[in-house]
Amino acid sequence: MQCECGNRAVLYRPYEGRALCQKHFLKSFEKKVRENIRKYNLIEHNDTLAIGLSGGKDSGALLHVINKYYGNRPDLDIFAILIDEGIHGYRDNSIEDAKAQCEAVNVPLHIYSYNDQNEITMDQIMQEGRNEGLSACHFCGVFRRDLLNKFTRELGATKIAVGHNLDDEVQAILMNYLKGDLSKLARLGFKSDNTVSASFVPRIKPFRSIPEREVGLYAVLNNVGADFEECPYAADAFRFEIRDFLNEMEDKHPTTKHSLLSMFGKLQPFIEEAYAAEETDRPALQNCNQCGEPCTGEVCRRCELLLRVKNQQVQEHTSAD
Ligand code: SF4
Repeated sequence: MQCECGNRAVLYRPYEGRALCQKHFLKSFEKKVRENIRKYNLIEHNDTLAIGLSGGKDSGALLHVINKYYGNRPDLDIFAILIDEGIHGYRDNSIEDAKAQCEAVNVPLHIYSYNDQNEITMDQIMQEGRNEGLSACHFCGVFRRDLLNKFTRELGATKIAVGHNLDDEVQAILMNYLKGDLSKLARLGFKSDNTVSASFVPRIKPFRSIPEREVGLYAVLNNVGADFEECPYAADAFRFEIRDFLNEMEDKHPTTKHSLLSMFGKLQPFIEEAYAAEETDRPALQNCNQCGEPCTGEVCRRCELLLRVKNQQVQEHTSAD
């Protein structure tokens, strides 16, 4: 297969019906990312940008492209942040890679762990059976969101950039449709805002319209981000079913994923309107009486989960005595 320029192609884009050589693929990829950033105002003057890093390909590619085009802008501050969930044999490998990625481009990296912040790791929750039947991702998603928000805010970030790609986004759209979760649907987009509370740092997704395999190829061609083992606790069967279904549809009907994203974009104003109408009936935000973070009840979800896990620890010690 050949690129239009005559060089050997590294990628065929079925949704555009064209093949691209390495040079033209890299150029086209970076152009799309910059267009997304410009069109949706993802990076603005005087931003302090926190890049959510995992050591993997998506966030490695994000760090690379953002640093390449925005790293020298004197009005921007850029740093990276990594959350260590405490999953032996998985996260400990990727931390080393994240450190190397940041050193290579001279971007400071801040690491926070569940162990330091919550006094418990994901391994302890799962291996000691303290999860009370809830999935690991149930705890992990809440803890990660909380720490990312809290520490990026404390570090002065005005935005958190995450490496979510087209595949992640269309999976989330379909999953939330099927679950009927209006609030999560209303929050999907290139940029989440912080109109609910100034304590929430907005998230931006510059790769949101770019397929996962292209983000992966960009990372490989730039030698950033390793391919790690899957998390041993990844067990979201529903997401995997949706992922396989969408991949099958894309194989049979190229453009399925782009069409789904584009259709969702047209529906989103109505979804946001419906959600805003529901919102008026919800209690106002207050501060968690344990940690002070914003939440709708007296205790935030993170503290609620931690209290459950720790109560179980106390019960175990009492019955052992
Ligand atoms: Fe956490 Fe689940 Fe991701 Fe593993 S797969 S890192 S448990 S959210």
